[in-house]
Amino acid sequence: MSITESLSMSLIIRAAALLSIFVAIPLTAQETPTERAAAHEVIRKMAVLEQSLGVPALVAQLTAPNAARDAVVARAEQLMKSELLALGDDITRHPEVGFKETESVKKLTGYLEAHGFAVEMGVAGLPTAFVARYRKNNGAPTLGIILEYDALRGTKGAFHGDQHSAQGPIGIAAAVAMAEYLSTSKLPGSVIVYGTPAEEMMPPPSKTVMHDAGVFKEADVIVRSHSSPSTTRPAHGFGSCCMNISGTRYTFSGAPAHQLQAWNGRNALTAVVHLFNNIDGLRSNIRPESRVQGVILEGGTAPNVVPDRAVADFYIRYPDAVYLRQLVAMVDDAARGAALGTGTKVKIEHYGSMQDGISVASLAEVGFAYLTKYGATNVDAERGKPQGFEETGSVSSAIPGIGFSAQTTTAPYHTYEMESDALAEVGHRGFSVDAQAMTALLFDFATRPAYRVLVRREFDGLRALFGEYQQALTRTYMVPMVPDPQ
Ligand SMILES: [Zn+2]
Repeated sequence: MSITESLSMSLIIRAAALLSIFVAIPLTAQETPTERAAAHEVIRKMAVLEQSLGVPALVAQLTAPNAARDAVVARAEQLMKSELLALGDDITRHPEVGFKETESVKKLTGYLEAHGFAVEMGVAGLPTAFVARYRKNNGAPTLGIILEYDALRGTKGAFHGDQHSAQGPIGIAAAVAMAEYLSTSKLPGSVIVYGTPAEEMMPPPSKTVMHDAGVFKEADVIVRSHSSPSTTRPAHGFGSCCMNISGTRYTFSGAPAHQLQAWNGRNALTAVVHLFNNIDGLRSNIRPESRVQGVILEGGTAPNVVPDRAVADFYIRYPDAVYLRQLVAMVDDAARGAALGTGTKVKIEHYGSMQDGISVASLAEVGFAYLTKYGATNVDAERGKPQGFEETGSVSSAIPGIGFSAQTTTAPYHTYEMESDALAEVGHRGFSVDAQAMTALLFDFATRPAYRVLVRREFDGLRALFGEYQQALTRTYMVPMVPDPQ
């Protein structure tokens, strides 16, 4: 046990009780009155769990002066300033959309290979996904770092209006600094970098595909950065930024015929029109927080031929995954009804989902303290709603982790102004702060066994409560009995 390992669980708990500075964090994940009622007992238990962790005392202890940590953080900052900010600029200037990020990936993996990492390309069957392991890895704990690199699909071509171009360099700075530190200090620990394509696209949701393939299973903790107009962190708990989503595609097949003899055909486009109307018919009997929005991807090719194929693509959203399942079943039935009513056939594909992730205060609060310590700007003192560190919820509900979001822009998300900021002072400063804070937190996680135990305890506790919450919701959302007609 190293000298930095002065942190004992009982000390943390006693310090918190003594100072009684723990303020209950409002749990804002429950967006509807029904969810809040169902979560009542879970929220009470969560408050007890969080109180037992003594997070404020933990933050004070971890962020106190530490020469070894500061040296590793300085190495990450130096890598950013000397090479990696320039690498980020290069990727910003050469944007590539999801699943086609071949040149960006070559730049990132080339840098990793030059710094002692062994790269495995095309993991989980995704050509632009990769895993890079430090060649001198030395057992547990394993520090996982997620990189993204896809650009947005704009009308004028690809552009980095979400600044994913900097995520690779930020994560690599932390990965290299920590890997070098662990190997020179001969401490146990491993560093693995995960290249995850197409954050802005599905199908497929690449992180879920990689998770299902077991790609992340070695990681004890996962970190990731994301650009932001303000410096933020989520509250502890479970939730998602933008509702639970089911991506669902409805493909109708009919039969072609001359439009003047349309009785010889079956019209797939009419089926799609019925689907939209059926969904509008449902709206008064679905919960008001539901969002069902779709587009028609294919609707025929010529006005003198009955369309024998039509495709509609929907994002079906609800604040929780339990009612979402009921909602998706109703929309699927609306599609089946549309097919029956038009003599066509429908294929239903639930091609991807975004679900609640878990955020742990013992990571989020420490990470946030480091962001402010290293000079992050436009700091949002209020905690955001609980959400996982990645968008699908699949990884962030299975492995503890944290997303770093220092201010990196003054513009809104997905804008050309935000892309410009990636090349400007506000971007460069924020990226550097993200890299430093990420490195500091990974240093603490790697060098303090008691901290790892605490993070695990909070994560396991929250995950169990998440399960209880889902069960409570399942009991709440009854499906009305519809009798057979007499
Ligand atoms: Zn993004």
